[in-house]
Amino acid sequence: MATPAQARVDLAAIRHNVAQLKERAGGAELMGAVKADAYGHGLLPTTEAMLQGGAGRLGTAVISEALALRAGGVTAPILSWLITPGEALDEALARDIELSASDVRLLDEIAEAARRTGITAKTHLEADTGMSRGGSPPADWPGLLSRAMELQAEGVIDITGIWTHFACADIPGHPSIRRQLETYEAALKLAEQAGAAGSHVIRHIANSAALMTLPEARFDMVRSGIAMYGLSPIPELGDFGLRQAMTLVGRVALVKRVPEGSGVSYGHLHVCERETTIAVVPLGYADGILRHASDRAEVLAGGRRRRITGRVCMDQFMIDLGDDELSAGDEVVLFGPGDGGEPTAQEWADSLGTITHEIVTRIGSRVPRVYERRSTE
Ligand SMILES: *Cc1c(COP(=O)(O)O)cnc(C)c1O
Repeated sequence: MATPAQARVDLAAIRHNVAQLKERAGGAELMGAVKADAYGHGLLPTTEAMLQGGAGRLGTAVISEALALRAGGVTAPILSWLITPGEALDEALARDIELSASDVRLLDEIAEAARRTGITAKTHLEADTGMSRGGSPPADWPGLLSRAMELQAEGVIDITGIWTHFACADIPGHPSIRRQLETYEAALKLAEQAGAAGSHVIRHIANSAALMTLPEARFDMVRSGIAMYGLSPIPELGDFGLRQAMTLVGRVALVKRVPEGSGVSYGHLHVCERETTIAVVPLGYADGILRHASDRAEVLAGGRRRRITGRVCMDQFMIDLGDDELSAGDEVVLFGPGDGGEPTAQEWADSLGTITHEIVTRIGSRVPRVYERRSTE
């Protein structure tokens, strides 16, 4: 490895996870959520592994992510669910990207693009069943349905999906889960009555957490992100046999002895009680190593767990090795699957009070993604 740091992505682990999730989904189709650069794993190689593992569809947040997939030669169906006024809808339709609409305003904007391009817009109608994020709340749902039916009759849109999203699927037993399922069922019933729920319409609500715990929420398709990357959607319930795909490593830039009383890094949060050896690792908060990890998160260095020493800087952090030996150029593992004694992404998330989604998606563009095709067997 010649670069200061790398995020190694085990594509065999991704394929393994996807195949396992596909089995768990039963007859439902599996959509791989590849927004945010495939959760920081690198869009195209990761997507390819997901498709090989058995994902039939792809989901992105914004249209530019879907266009990047098409530009990379991906032909699988893609849905983009977060659309802002004035976006490149013509191009999205020309590249056969399915769009989600939460209200009549957006539906009309999509219809305009369809008229301009002469391409029928495959449109997923989103219901807000209790998250208050995207989607049409129950009071507005009939209006969205009737506008969609008019536009479908005109031939400018095709109602391709009817969907919603859970707020608390990762908190098993949370009362909102039942309420959201009921609200979704009611939205589907209204869609059926309006003639908007034809047999080809894909009904989808479940994310990774719901796939693990709510078989009744699978409907026609499951949208899975975090579990595809081998990270548990509900850590309290274990790892579900998933295999973490990403390993983040840095190579030591500098090793030196410093005298007793030396302050380490900005603000001198850490002062050495005796003469010691300090190693400098070339990863910082600009690379997604949160400043909050200062004096908190652990890494594997020289065969032992050690805590980050003092403040994380923009481009680097330090570790106090005591009298242990480490050389410039040696590898430090921040997190990985845990096989070699390194912390997992889950341990990083726990120690920083966050979720693994945030740990992996924040790895910066300066860190090259390197693909390994290791077997997981
Ligand atoms: C990100 C996202 C998902 C995937 O969620 P995971 O918890 O990572 O499985 C599914 N649906 C929508 C709408 C999302 O934004």
